Amino acid sequence: MILSQITKHFVQEALKRKILNINDLQKLKNEFSSKYKIKSLLNRELILAYKKIVQEKSDLKSLSFERVIRKRSVRTESGITSVTIVTKPYACPGKCVFCPTEKGIPKSYASNEPGIMRAILNDFDPKRQVKNRLQAYIGNGHTADKVEMIILGGTFSFYPHRYQTDFVRKMYEALNEGLGAKMKDEKCKIENVGSKMAKTLQKAQALNEKAEHRCVGLSVETRPDYITEKELLRFRKLGVTRIEIGVQHTVDRILTFNKRGHDIGAVKDAMRLMKDAGFKITSHLMPNLPGATITEDYQMFLDVFNDPDLRTDWLKIYPCSVVPFSELEQWFKQGRYQSYEQQDLIDLLIRVKQIVPLYIRITRLIRDIPDTSILSSASVSNLRQEIHQIISKNQSKFQMCQCIRCREIRSAEVNLAKTELNILEYEAQGGKEFFISIDDMSQNKLCANLRLRFPSQYFSRQKHFIKELEGAALIRELHVFGNESSIGSNQRGLAQHKGFGGQLLQQAELKAKQAGFSKIAVISGIGVREYYRKNGYHLEGSYMLKVLRKS
Ligand code: SF4
Ligand SMILES: [Zn+2]
Repeated sequence: MILSQITKHFVQEALKRKILNINDLQKLKNEFSSKYKIKSLLNRELILAYKKIVQEKSDLKSLSFERVIRKRSVRTESGITSVTIVTKPYACPGKCVFCPTEKGIPKSYASNEPGIMRAILNDFDPKRQVKNRLQAYIGNGHTADKVEMIILGGTFSFYPHRYQTDFVRKMYEALNEGLGAKMKDEKCKIENVGSKMAKTLQKAQALNEKAEHRCVGLSVETRPDYITEKELLRFRKLGVTRIEIGVQHTVDRILTFNKRGHDIGAVKDAMRLMKDAGFKITSHLMPNLPGATITEDYQMFLDVFNDPDLRTDWLKIYPCSVVPFSELEQWFKQGRYQSYEQQDLIDLLIRVKQIVPLYIRITRLIRDIPDTSILSSASVSNLRQEIHQIISKNQSKFQMCQCIRCREIRSAEVNLAKTELNILEYEAQGGKEFFISIDDMSQNKLCANLRLRFPSQYFSRQKHFIKELEGAALIRELHVFGNESSIGSNQRGLAQHKGFGGQLLQQAELKAKQAGFSKIAVISGIGVREYYRKNGYHLEGSYMLKVLRKS
């Protein structure tokens, strides 16, 4: 038997035996290896064979089996595929002491971080980076039809505007072109299909509305003091929906000591502008900065959770590490900086996880820097797992983290009879936020959430700086969790496509109408515009809008 026949036989056998977990899959692989004297079969080969079998006999389709053979399913378990690309090395106006400046590498990154290594291999070319990631995801069995694009690399706002526009246009073009028909089969070479080459950013965006790989969100990272009304309007033209912002600490003395070049007031101003323009915000916080104490770090988290002007959506917590090519490296060598004891950092983060609000997602607890590049740090590479283990083992003392990431339904089956719609209302940046969620109460899992904002202008009666948002309530996020399912499909048992999105949208519209808003606007990723059109929205400027009629 040739390899393709063996692989086909393997998949048929696996489906017959109803293999549902990795251990059983591996046992069968071992069985086949010794029977046919071959190396262990690769999941990639199994995926291709499985696809062919299902094409011939669609009733053999098994979602559970697909999940077992998909590699790294965790990256798509929150419903979308995240693709990170990196801008070329460029200067940053900041002088932060902890930030590395490595030659040929974008500011604040290290040459041996996995994402940066991929970018280097692709010469920081956005198209090649996107296609490379799509190739990896599709090769591993993902559809990658809903893609959240994450642009990393120092301070995005500081790059020449022309470079930014060009970079983003090429990113959309890569999504529009996809990998070409042949790519998705056995051929692994990236092919430039060319026919959909878009000449302008707007055209590339328009094409993406119906492309195979739709951009459902786009994030960039920048400094708070670079956020202005004008800058946000420019970001909207690029299609940005989320902004990662370096807050780092809430105490001015610590910000100054670390040469951040802005105070906490600048962070508050930036956050209000971003929220009022509908952006979702990821705040970066750094415990263990030079000059800070554990007590001040804990207070920093309290500030971010309790001060309405600092409340955020997502959090990246990066405990300060001493890395080469940073000013802190010298401070450390001169004995001017010391990392916390590891246990102290763990204790701090466990305390933080006890008080994190339900509307926050802690997306990261550490940077992706390899240990070999860290001269000193209180952190460990498996910090998140370690903290979770401690909490799980001491449940009489600690409660499990209630952040979004820890409650996402992922690949678990939704118990529809036990789902509930909940609304958490809180003040933020001079406006009012409503975190509307659908939760599976039987498992304490989050199936979907929507962020509705009554902007600060609604309360201050000031004119909005974005014309089309005048008098509008804002939907800043609508996210249905669960394993990615193809656009248009309706796969059983998954949180996506159960109508949760529609329910949340209706609830948001109702709330806005009751508060007297005559319209509601969504900051929608380019690739989700179609969804909103189907729900009665139309494009105005860069937002999807709906007129709310009095009933
Ligand atoms: S602003 Fe960001 S990229 Fe610039 S120096 Fe500071 S940490 Fe580094
Ligand atoms: Zn959590």
